Amino acid sequence: MGTDSFSWTVEGDSCSTYSSSKTWEVLRPRGTTQASAKHIWFSGATPKHAFHMWVTNLNRLPTRDRLSAWGMQVPLSCCICSLHPESRDHIMLSCPYSLTLWSEVARRLRCVVPNFGDWLRLFIELTLLYTVWQQRNNMFFNQTLSPPLVAFKDINMQVVNSITALRTRKNFRALMQLWLI
Ligand SMILES: [Zn+2]
Repeated sequence: MGTDSFSWTVEGDSCSTYSSSKTWEVLRPRGTTQASAKHIWFSGATPKHAFHMWVTNLNRLPTRDRLSAWGMQVPLSCCICSLHPESRDHIMLSCPYSLTLWSEVARRLRCVVPNFGDWLRLFIELTLLYTVWQQRNNMFFNQTLSPPLVAFKDINMQVVNSITALRTRKNFRALMQLWLI
């Protein structure tokens, strides 16, 4: 059975530099379906974010590479940046738009990896992936896109709201400090 642990350290390397490909490898649940489910449907996860992560992990999002493979006549370029072919990995990890969001998250967390941080990181990542897909769909259907730093503000608000909902827990202050200071 594969590992179902999660960390921003990658195989013992601390994440002082950000690597999108390594992050996806860490981020995507591996191993048995049961282990993957535990990874995604963790306590405190927002259900729509968890469902989106599940679909993303299975590579079932209707990205343009998949629409094309189904025989639809669509442009292959990324809806958001138009610079590269649109695939799951591009949209979520290497599109300049999502890279900006990932780097904002890394900057905010300063890549500190304390024990209590797993929940926070999972929550942030599910929220970020969901937000990127929302923005992609805004472009696909409405040709509108929020600037990445505006989208990050929305992610920030969701994270703060979720941490606040945990204020009776004993590590609430640590989570708040990690995210806000
Ligand atoms: Zn792109």
